[in-house]
Amino acid sequence: MILPIVQYGHPALRQKGARIEKITPEIRSLVADMFDTMYAAAGIGLAAQQVGRALQLTVLDVRGVKDRPSTLEKNGSPVEVAEAMPLVLINPVLRSFGDLVAGPEGCLSFPEIYEEITRPASVEVTALDAQGVPVQFIAGGLLGRAIQHEVDHVNGILFIDRMPLTAKRALKQELDALQQRTKESLAGGGGR
Ligand code: ZN
Repeated sequence: MILPIVQYGHPALRQKGARIEKITPEIRSLVADMFDTMYAAAGIGLAAQQVGRALQLTVLDVRGVKDRPSTLEKNGSPVEVAEAMPLVLINPVLRSFGDLVAGPEGCLSFPEIYEEITRPASVEVTALDAQGVPVQFIAGGLLGRAIQHEVDHVNGILFIDRMPLTAKRALKQELDALQQRTKESLAGGGGR
């Protein structure tokens, strides 16, 4: 089922997600709905906050992007990225490392806003998978960036928080207008 994606100004986007202690049927169903929603929006990652749920849960799939490579390593050996997709991360914890790299980012909660964001090149991920099994791996390239973006979301952090001040200033009017539209639609009882 495709869920409405909440936009900037919705309070859920600023909530740190609660840990998921048990993979209940409700969580499985939410994961399936989040994938439906992400694919319908042509996104590569979606956090629970973006469908209005403050949980430590995100889904990703970078297979649709051909022009920006990703890397993945498990137990010290490279793994085919496509084989690890789609990816569900529950209660994710990151340790980022490597050089800082700038790259373009967008966000499904900020339609038509794109900006260069600087992040560490690589990230070690510790999480539970969709079955509640502990997983650990190292991701780089686009996947490393997408995971950092999504894990920020589950902690209530948004990519505008990572923008250089000059970029954020240049976008101020657009951001204020988006926030205002979201607040008006919430006040109007539209259900989003
Ligand atoms: Zn996002």
